[in-house]
Amino acid sequence: MHERLGDDLARLPQLLEQTGRYATDLLSGLETRAVAVPPAPRAARALPQEGKGLAGALEEFRRRWEPGFSGSAGPRYLGFVTGGATPASLAGDWLTSVLDQNPTSGLDSAAPDLEREVVGWLRELFGLGEAHSGAFVTGATMSNMVGLAIAREWLGEQAGVAVSDAGVGALGPVTVLSGTPHSSVFKALSMLGLGRNALRPVPTQPGRECVDLTELERALTALEGRPAVVVANAGTVNTGDFDDLRAIAALRERHPFWLHVDAAFGAYAALSPSHAHLVAGLDEADSVCVDLHKWGNVPYDSAVQFTRRRDLQVRVFRNAAAYLGLPTDDPDFIHLTPENSRRLRALAAWFSLTAYGRAGHREIVERNIAAARALGDRLEADPRWRLLAPVRLNVVCFTVADGPTADRIDRIVKTVAAGGDLFVTPTVLDGTWALRAAFSNWRTTPDQLDRIVDALDAAL
Ligand SMILES: *Cc1c(COP(=O)(O)O)cnc(C)c1O
Repeated sequence: MHERLGDDLARLPQLLEQTGRYATDLLSGLETRAVAVPPAPRAARALPQEGKGLAGALEEFRRRWEPGFSGSAGPRYLGFVTGGATPASLAGDWLTSVLDQNPTSGLDSAAPDLEREVVGWLRELFGLGEAHSGAFVTGATMSNMVGLAIAREWLGEQAGVAVSDAGVGALGPVTVLSGTPHSSVFKALSMLGLGRNALRPVPTQPGRECVDLTELERALTALEGRPAVVVANAGTVNTGDFDDLRAIAALRERHPFWLHVDAAFGAYAALSPSHAHLVAGLDEADSVCVDLHKWGNVPYDSAVQFTRRRDLQVRVFRNAAAYLGLPTDDPDFIHLTPENSRRLRALAAWFSLTAYGRAGHREIVERNIAAARALGDRLEADPRWRLLAPVRLNVVCFTVADGPTADRIDRIVKTVAAGGDLFVTPTVLDGTWALRAAFSNWRTTPDQLDRIVDALDAAL
């Protein structure tokens, strides 16, 4: 064994304790760490020839890289839709690496059954029925990709071809309809060979990001019975708007289409009884995408995909080999998603749900919604700011009351980031340059609001 490896093995308990102490310091410093750290140019180091051992690596990381890392896991990082990591999910994530299981196949460990247990819990949490099965993937982009891959196979089924064997060329042009799709849907369509141009945007309701149902039905009618894919959106990133999932699902009585719902963070509305109506009908979807590293507050990277058509999913993703076995009625995960070998991503979510349950995660969701509402109220009451949409859930979309140009918004975003107390991201809503603050971190408490507002006001 290499000398450094042997040394580290001999001192593993002490080294892990040292790492644990360092981690504790980092976590207790999260409240004071700069929320965002604009990256400075730095010279790359040469590949180490003689290693320094773990203690040396820790020292070097602490010195060279840690100062450049942001407090994005902390309470006032409101950019994109960004969660933190609950204590239990963090512990679960550590143990994922400690045990280093590969849940791909069920020949040697209970790990795949743990993943099945968590998928079942999540299904219940989001109000999905038993007809939905699922698997863990890296993020909502991959979850959307898997859902749309199954949709592609379903389109083939309607046309009497197995796309998974014959290729996408056997399918002919494909139509994907959506009101305000997330950018990752275009990426997924590109990866799947369906092409970004397959997506035909459907007009939204005036002043809203949710799809106009009359327009959607018109677009479906124009297809004259040709099967299509509809991507419904449950929680848009700009304003947290929701399509009427029940009404969209009901259109399948008159038109043939696969209904995929991108509920990356919006699915968590189901945890709050006063917001659950926003995702009513989610169960009727053919495939559903939900992120866990956002509002689920587990560490990156983690998301789940659900579908009612696991048979088609297996046709797309099956990875049969003599030593791996053929897919059965309860297929191994290797037959369900793009990855073969992978980590037991479900363990972090298992720990968080076991530690805090539905009630604990509901409390996070409701506290974040209350914070978003409170920020919305403060901005609305201030004539210098303008709220661009009512706060429906956890996203606040707003801009400056006078002259919201690209430059002005860019300057505000950069000033806020440089202040180190808050991070928000820019967007364009209906042609207007704007800012968004998305609340999805379990550490965000009501007493943070003054600091958030102060940081915004100071950047005006
Ligand atoms: C974040 C997000 C995605 C993409 O998620 P990743 O986890 O970054 O891959 C897709 N859809 C919606 C609505 C999102 O908010």
